[in-house]
Amino acid sequence: MIRAQFPIITSHPELAYLDSAATAQKPQPVLDAVHHYLTTSNANAGRGTYPWANSTTALIERVRERVKAFLDDPDPARSQVHFVSGTTEGLRTVALDWLVDELADGDEIIVPFADHEANVSPWLEARDVLARRNIRVGVREMPYQESSGDYDISALAGLLTPRTRFVAATHVHHVYGGDMNVGRIREAVGPDVPIALDAAQSVGHLPVSLRELDVDFAVFSGHKALALPGSGAVWSRGLRGAEFAPRGWQGTPNTVGIASLGAALDWLDGAGPERIEQWTVGLAARLTAGLRELPPYEVVGCQLSLAERSAVQQRHGIVTFRHSDIESVDLGFILFSHGFMVRADGLCQGRAGEGRSSVRVSLHAYNTREEVDRLLEVLTSLAPQS
Ligand code: PMP
Repeated sequence: MIRAQFPIITSHPELAYLDSAATAQKPQPVLDAVHHYLTTSNANAGRGTYPWANSTTALIERVRERVKAFLDDPDPARSQVHFVSGTTEGLRTVALDWLVDELADGDEIIVPFADHEANVSPWLEARDVLARRNIRVGVREMPYQESSGDYDISALAGLLTPRTRFVAATHVHHVYGGDMNVGRIREAVGPDVPIALDAAQSVGHLPVSLRELDVDFAVFSGHKALALPGSGAVWSRGLRGAEFAPRGWQGTPNTVGIASLGAALDWLDGAGPERIEQWTVGLAARLTAGLRELPPYEVVGCQLSLAERSAVQQRHGIVTFRHSDIESVDLGFILFSHGFMVRADGLCQGRAGEGRSSVRVSLHAYNTREEVDRLLEVLTSLAPQS
């Protein structure tokens, strides 16, 4: 039983944690790995003249390979995994330690302004750094389909020029929950343009195959993938452009966070990312179907993706909605008074985002149908009876 492995969940039966897109809870084997590491071999890495230091160095190398295998790396002999504190730091280091050296005056980059701010501001920062060196880089807005929140690939094709040098994209959208069909970006931009992928909402929630996605960078946060905060990674391969090499002196790595990440990926492999995906997609579809019966609620995002399986855009375990008469932040407080922990605000979307706050329910392996049904009961009680 998966839920039984999450002590924070089982020790609070009166609460329902529905905010896993913000951060995920940790299963016992991850907590055990943290305890084991700190009580048996805690030391610094890469400076080994004694066994604890050597085993920490080996652990970090092992987790690096673990990350590659977990992401179905097409080229593990050549690719690199660089540990960072999370997606925000990871994308920023790609922007400032790699992208700025790839761009020349007149080049253009494509930025997804309705995705998470962490996948918008680093690219603008890179542009601004270059502008101070009198290198002018054009920033084009990734186009979205009005109706779905998916990228608009034909409009994207119209934006491309011979100077398009880089595209930033997201695997699963943190507000709409949709799979952003990144493979279609590669088809549109051709074989030579590097793509950086924000995989914060996909790693740990569904099978991620870098072999299939054909991107150049994939960045994720360990804490959303059941590991400790501060344990993210940048996967890269120097296929298009220079090898990624973070600038400057790299200090002590987050050894215990990296240990937790290795244990989390082992746990996820054991549970089966496709099973987790199936479960969370099913729960999200159940919630969405219930909300559709309740007129005051508007579910945000692709209306065609609300079914469990959509040919248009696969929806994952994230459902975002609004009530016509209750402010989303108030709704968040009301839901917590019934024991439901949800996210309720602007959701850190970039400048082309919704612009209005909403309530987000995000699900993981430990959530249950019963929690979704109880939530729907409370939401029903807040809908005026006609
Ligand atoms: N990208 C996406 C899609 C996210 O959902 C988040 C976290 N909400 C981030 C980036 C930033 O992740 P972190 O705060 O772990 O750096």
